[in-house]
Formats: sequence, C-alpha cells, structure tokens
Amino acid sequence: MNNSLKLRNKNIGVHIKNSLCLYKNVIFANKLNISAFSFFIGSPLKWNKNISINDINKFKFFCKKFNINKNYIIPHSSYLINLGSPINNKLWKSLHLLKKEIFICNRLGLKLINLHIGSHLNLITENKCIDIVINSLNYIIKYTENIILVLENSAGNGNYIGYNLDQIYNIICSIDNKSRIGVCIDTGHAFASGYDLRDFNSCDIFFNIFNNKIGFNYLRALHLNGSRCKYFSKQDKHSILLNSYLGNNIFYWIMRNNYFNNLPIILETVNPNLWLSEINWLYSI
Ligand SMILES: [Zn+2]
Repeated sequence: MNNSLKLRNKNIGVHIKNSLCLYKNVIFANKLNISAFSFFIGSPLKWNKNISINDINKFKFFCKKFNINKNYIIPHSSYLINLGSPINNKLWKSLHLLKKEIFICNRLGLKLINLHIGSHLNLITENKCIDIVINSLNYIIKYTENIILVLENSAGNGNYIGYNLDQIYNIICSIDNKSRIGVCIDTGHAFASGYDLRDFNSCDIFFNIFNNKIGFNYLRALHLNGSRCKYFSKQDKHSILLNSYLGNNIFYWIMRNNYFNNLPIILETVNPNLWLSEINWLYSI
C-alpha cells in the first residue's frame, strides 16, 4: 500500500470466511495488510453461536496488537436471519439470533453489523414483509445496545426485499432510533436489481438518487462485487472485480469520490487468490 492510497482515506478489505475462530480473521486481515474486513460470527448456517470468551479476548488482543481500527470491521450476520419472515417461529428465531450476534459485536468492541433485509418467502406481499422488517428492526434496536444495523441492498433475487432504494428509504423512515440504522450498497446487487452502473453518468444518477432519497449520512459500508449475470438479471451471482458484466467504471467512480472515505469497503469477490491484486488495482486507480 503506497502513501497516495492512504491519503485518499479509502479503507478496502475483504470478507474473510473463517467462521470457526473469530480472532483468526484478525490475523488473516493483518497478513493481507488490509484496513477493513468482514466475517461471519460463527457459522452463517447454524442457529447456535458458541463463541468463547477466549476467542473474544483474542480478537480484541490482535486488533490492538496489529493496530486495526475497529470502525472498519463489519461482521456479516447469519444467512438464517429473516427479519421479514411471515412464519412466526422463524421470525422469533431470527430476532433471537440477531440479538445474540449484536451482543457478541458489543463484546468485540465493534460498531457495525451488516444485514440482508428480509424475504417474504412468497407467502405475503412485499409491503407486508416491509412492515414486519420495520417492527423487527425497531424491536432489535430497543432490546440491544450501540451497534448500527447496516441494511444491504439485495439483487432482487428470490423473494428478497430491499432491491430498490425506495424500499430501503421506507424502512429507514419508520425506524424510531435512526442513529442505529445504516445502509450498505453492494455494487453487484445494485446492478442485478436494475441500477445500471456501467458508465460514470449512470453512477452519478444512482448515487444522486441515493443521496436525495436516503442521504450519504446513512451510508456505512460498501460491498464491491462484479456480476456474473447481465444487467437487471435479478440474480445474486458475485464475480471477480474486473471484467464482469458490471464493467470497471463503477470502481473508478467510487475510488475517486470522497463520499466513500472512512467507510469499510469490502470485497466479496469469489477468488481469494485475486484479492490482493484486486485491492492493489483499486488503490492504483
Ligand atoms: Zn454483499
């Protein structure tokens, strides 16, 4: 990482997939020399979370030892969590699990958690699902502390809501304590859901809509992904960063724009062997 990169205040990292030991994610991040990262709190496909005190202490120890700024660490919540579930017991399990993950984030001394917004499972309307999500978020915020719930835009795949900025805006409007809510924009998801980001003009348009509707003050993270599927495919298929259907212009636009300073910028690209070259390329443009 050369100095001109650091001057830009961009904090780029990756989603690290070691879910067994939290602290090993910190060691891995240090090895990669990245200033931001994401990880799952335990297995993303298991309801139980057995995170030991030892693991939590080691996580904090290594963050301190390697001088890692915790503002740029953003865990990804479990895939099992559906805050808009129309099935009562699944909704309660989701709320319970998210409360537990937030409790762990607090123990780790973190500030953010990334969430998929929810799915109607084709059992209820999108609007009904959004109502359930709003109730869930207000409940979670009321019964947990500190951590900002960062809502990620979806690709519009399956029955996921949150595939357009209007839905995200509507949810935020109904949150009682707005200091605990944020947004993560995933470039691959936005493209798949129908926001064309292939040229600078489209990037301007998308982020202008974002700013006018939601506001950059709510933007807490970015996920940088290419897309293995064409524009408006409504499919969530991440690819490597360069030369995907999404093209490269969005990444130039982000790296040259101050709106994205001081945020965790997380690559969820599919080939770990390319992570370092993808990150170096981003810092070089
Ligand atoms: Zn993502």
